[in-house]
Amino acid sequence: MTVNDHRLDEVALAANGAVNGNHHRRIDHGAVERAAADLLRALGADVDAEALEETPRRVADAYAELLTPQPFRATTFPNDEGYDELIVARAIPFHSLCMHHLLPFHGVAHIGYLPGERIIGLSKLGRVVEYFSRDLQIQERLTTQVAGWLQDELEPKGVGVVLEAEHLCMSLRGVQKLGAKTVTSALRGVVRDDARTRQEFLALTTRTSHDQ
Ligand SMILES: [Zn+2]
Repeated sequence: MTVNDHRLDEVALAANGAVNGNHHRRIDHGAVERAAADLLRALGADVDAEALEETPRRVADAYAELLTPQPFRATTFPNDEGYDELIVARAIPFHSLCMHHLLPFHGVAHIGYLPGERIIGLSKLGRVVEYFSRDLQIQERLTTQVAGWLQDELEPKGVGVVLEAEHLCMSLRGVQKLGAKTVTSALRGVVRDDARTRQEFLALTTRTSHDQ
């Protein structure tokens, strides 16, 4: 059995190239701390108060973690059994950071693909989502990146990605609909073009959260 090992950071760079140069991002920790202190001051906080003493550093630590993808090996295997049905991983939890407000959005990802020559370990699907989540994101782009990566790496007959997420920038302000979900999808290949496969994928992934 041959196994293809890819370090996802290299693969992602190849896949996204200049479009998504932020995976090269270097975080200037000291500058983030200074900026966080400035933000607190601008918000009228007393940054010299003992309770806020460590806050700029904590803020910098938190953003560094949220924006640093963890490389992993995306191991794929030959589809020796010729498996020819949808493989679906439902309700993979994820969180990301909205690039418009620097507030989190979080929810679940449903990922399915109809394999071609190769298959990927199910646990790796979550790692792919997490990898692209550690970024300043919008949900549509995250959805497309996950689908694009699977398409490029696995060359399956079809891929479907559905993300359901609550955006704190929406639910904590403005219309304040706590719990309201934004749903995005990216369908490729037969999951997009074949009506029966598309229906099957959507039936498996777009049940309401009461069914989960
Ligand atoms: Zn936002």
